[in-house]
Amino acid sequence: MTTTSTPFPLPPQTARLPLPYRDEAQVLGEARARLGVLDWHRVVAVATPWVDAVRAHPAPFWAMESLLKEYPISSAEGLALMRLAEALLRVPDVETAIALTADQLGRGEFDSGDGSKGLLAGLSASAIALSKKFLPDAESGSGLLGRLGARTVVAATVRALQLLGRQFVLGRSIAEAMGEADGQRQAQPGLRYSYDMLGEGARTDADALRYLRSYQNAIEVIAASPAGGKGPEASDGISIKLSALFPRYEDAQRERVFAELLPRVWTLIERAAPAHLNLTIDAEEVDRLELSLELFDALAARIAQVYPLWRGFGLAVQAYQTRALAVVDEVAAIARKHQLRFMLRLVKGAYWDGEVKRAQEQGLPAYPVFTRKPHTDVAYLACAQALMAHRELIYTQFATHNAGTIAALQAMALQTGAEPGRHFEMQRLHGMAEGIYREVMKDGRTACRVYAPVGEHRDLLAYLVRRLLENGANSSFVHQLADPQVDPAELLASPLLLAVQGPGAEGQPLPVHLYGESRRNSAGVDLTCLAQRGPLDAAVRATVLPTVLPTVPMATAGQCAVAMGVLQAGFAAWSERPLAERAAIVRRAGDLLDARLAEFCGLLVKEAHKTLGDCVAEVREAVDFCRYYATQAEQRLAEQVLPGPTGESNVLRLHGRGVFVCISPWNFPLAIFAGQVVAALVAGNTVAAKPAEQTPVVALRMVALLHEAGVPADALQLLHGLGDTVGAALVADSRTAGVCFTGSTQVARLINRSLAMKDGPIVPLIAETGGLNAMVVDSTALPEQVVDAVVQSAFRSAGQRCSALRLLCVHEGIADGVIEMLKGAMAELQVGDPAELRCDVGPVIDDEAYAGIQAHVQRLKAEAKLLGETPVASAFPRLVAPVAFELKAIGELKQEIFGPVLHVVRWGGDVEAVVREVNALGYGLTFGIQTRIDSRAERLARQARIGNVYVNRNMIGAVVGVQPFGGEGLSGTGPKAGGPHYLYRFCAEQTVTINTAAAGGNAALLAGTV
Ligand SMILES: Cc1cc2nc3c(=O)[nH]c(=O)nc-3n(C[C@H](O)[C@H](O)[C@H](O)COP(=O)(O)OP(=O)(O)OC[C@H]3O[C@@H](n4cnc5c(N)ncnc54)[C@H](O)[C@@H]3O)c2cc1C
Repeated sequence: MTTTSTPFPLPPQTARLPLPYRDEAQVLGEARARLGVLDWHRVVAVATPWVDAVRAHPAPFWAMESLLKEYPISSAEGLALMRLAEALLRVPDVETAIALTADQLGRGEFDSGDGSKGLLAGLSASAIALSKKFLPDAESGSGLLGRLGARTVVAATVRALQLLGRQFVLGRSIAEAMGEADGQRQAQPGLRYSYDMLGEGARTDADALRYLRSYQNAIEVIAASPAGGKGPEASDGISIKLSALFPRYEDAQRERVFAELLPRVWTLIERAAPAHLNLTIDAEEVDRLELSLELFDALAARIAQVYPLWRGFGLAVQAYQTRALAVVDEVAAIARKHQLRFMLRLVKGAYWDGEVKRAQEQGLPAYPVFTRKPHTDVAYLACAQALMAHRELIYTQFATHNAGTIAALQAMALQTGAEPGRHFEMQRLHGMAEGIYREVMKDGRTACRVYAPVGEHRDLLAYLVRRLLENGANSSFVHQLADPQVDPAELLASPLLLAVQGPGAEGQPLPVHLYGESRRNSAGVDLTCLAQRGPLDAAVRATVLPTVLPTVPMATAGQCAVAMGVLQAGFAAWSERPLAERAAIVRRAGDLLDARLAEFCGLLVKEAHKTLGDCVAEVREAVDFCRYYATQAEQRLAEQVLPGPTGESNVLRLHGRGVFVCISPWNFPLAIFAGQVVAALVAGNTVAAKPAEQTPVVALRMVALLHEAGVPADALQLLHGLGDTVGAALVADSRTAGVCFTGSTQVARLINRSLAMKDGPIVPLIAETGGLNAMVVDSTALPEQVVDAVVQSAFRSAGQRCSALRLLCVHEGIADGVIEMLKGAMAELQVGDPAELRCDVGPVIDDEAYAGIQAHVQRLKAEAKLLGETPVASAFPRLVAPVAFELKAIGELKQEIFGPVLHVVRWGGDVEAVVREVNALGYGLTFGIQTRIDSRAERLARQARIGNVYVNRNMIGAVVGVQPFGGEGLSGTGPKAGGPHYLYRFCAEQTVTINTAAAGGNAALLAGTV
């Protein structure tokens, strides 16, 4: 007997779908083949009158269509409006609200002058009329802000945004929304609703439980109302987002998802199924797609046992996914297997820009979504065709605002015999495409359901911005409909034709070509994709389980001296190799490493105790270093002809300095090690490489790989050993022509002194050292984004990154909320064995580090206020629980603790004073700024005496050639690693001036050739 508390068994993980990364043209070809023949002339003939009718009755001035027409998001005004919509309503303090409004309104031409024209002016006027009580005394100023007064404009803008929000939210509570829906049904009795309780991406369990209660309540209210009880097709229903119900709805947390999320969803099904309501699981990001199908199948299995007659269970499928057709077939297969009928909402997809960015950042082999809009349209129609064929198993809910798509669906239904209301219905978002559906529904047959968000403004923002983005895109149908310049023929052009020709037919360049033709992007791994993860898992298993790593012998002082002699002798030959040859060798090393990513990941897990995600990122960084420095060398170290007087030639040449000593740390035993070594090599130096004591095997393998790529043995020698013996001996050696060091400020000073003590040439020291890295958060920041950035920056890699966040400075107006959310998010972190995919935080590097961090934590527990500490269930050695403490002042932070320990201070008043205090700490490595006030971000970045500034994101994971990395002050000497100025520091310069008139006269001048 299945009961509420019966656990959901965890099935073995198998891939249900094809690889997400396939050739787009091929996938499109498959979709076209499934689609068959479609008479597009007929589609245009049906849809054109709808378009004409909608254009003849323009939408009211506050509707999305009008807004986008007046302020497209490609304009400064549109962007500003979107920023304000996203941020203003949550700002708690008046000063910041004024600063934000002034900053954003100042960016565009909102002020139409006479105050009568212009949408915002219009909205503001209505808002002012509606909210007299919000209007305090005017302040002086200029422009719109000046004439109306800063506070007034802010109040008006707030009201305008609230009005805008109300266009998209049906009500603040389910009761209010249903009342509103009843009102709308008076005019259009055929309307049904699917209510969406606003909120997504819960970061804490408390938030997830709050969302769960609101869904539960909503279903109960719908079930008890006259809008329920008519079967899933005719009743109102509910849409749920799984990310709202569980803070770790991720493939990596599959076990917990089955154990914790599924029972929650089941409590909703237990309410919806007996009432025969439609409950649809919304579609979210691509990396959740396979998992969502697994969950759907597991729930369907139980529904088949407990509610076999329920026909209202559903999910949304995104046509922009290159796997969309396979998803449709898989849902049909699940229906067949469990003998159920599902409801399936076919959408195009709402996260397109995010998916493209993710694929580029992760260096994936292709995009998991189509990269051209007509491709998505074709896939949508192909899925529709497939769904109509599956109509006995699936009732389809076609969600689109596109008149061409709607007319094509109607034509297809006629062809296939699918009937509206029986086999399918149409869906639209509340506040959108009302005009089009007013026309479409005049046929008296079309069944239409409105997706209706319900909730407070606080939860509206993410939803609203996504709608603005998706509809504001130039390619969006709603956007073009509002633009009378777009001819109906163009608006309704066949996607089948546009898919093969038309502007941008080549789509987005693949992620591997992100940096253009001269440098390939390193290949990443989608850890959520079984096929991609397979080799990595195998390599980790092979390395981690029985293997004992080889012992790398420590070099003696004598061996160091011998090696320096070899390298000194090898210098002439290596430095005289043509630049192109050295670059080709280094580039080859990058390619070899790229191909051996899995093997090196296995090694990094074993020796450096890194999590899988960190391992992949590290190998990629090393590959990027090889390719970047090879390209930089070719571009920057080539001989330059300099201008000068006639009768003389002048050239500038760069060449290697001699033997470079490269000393690297254990926290990036591959990337930093490789970066230093290949930079020195490609510039023409020979290299004595001393890795960290803790991670010699990674270094050994990298050196072997470099030799395999073609670096001669007398150009690169590995010298493993302790810093104060081997490191010190190398630095002190008279043959050392330069030192490149990454590590603590204290050791950098020792090296500096040792070099200064030597007679002979004064040699360069490139030192990259630690930081007391801060993040400043003002009250316009989005708490969810802040908490994500903080958790990643402070705790990822167990805080063992020199870029890691140590000091969070959060505005007092939002501090309580941010801290509460941070505590909740910390409670969700998985601390344990780094070889396991689910692990977020692995152990610290060694016993000494462990003891040092624990001593610091114990002291802080006595001296500071403990804010939160992640529970640790694993017995894996040397785990330090991520922990956060509140300090009273920034100055209380004295020392860099290289572990998952975060310090938090609150601030109020002048944000620039905060940056002054951060500067006064003396370090200058990384700095985070979280604000929606663009001018403030710009000002603070300039004020910070800090090497790497990150705005509205995390502050770790600098990408080679994209975020050149390195600090100033106590954080290092520069130049930045992975930046355009790095290689110069490894070079000596020579100018060669030849008097070409020396032989008696200037023949070239006289001959007229110069
Ligand atoms: C009732 C309803 C429920 C919805 N539920 C969900 C949901 O659960 N999950 C979800 O993700 N979305 C959901 N959406 C949003 C939906 O995915 C679309 O974003 C939206 O409906 C716009 O599509 P359209 O056909 O109306 O407009 P169109 O203008 O015809 O299509 C716009 C869509 O094309 C795609 N696109 C844009 N540019 C490109 C490009 N260069 N290459 C490839 N594709 C591109 C995008 O998906 C974009 O949204 C829902 C929409 C509705 C109406």
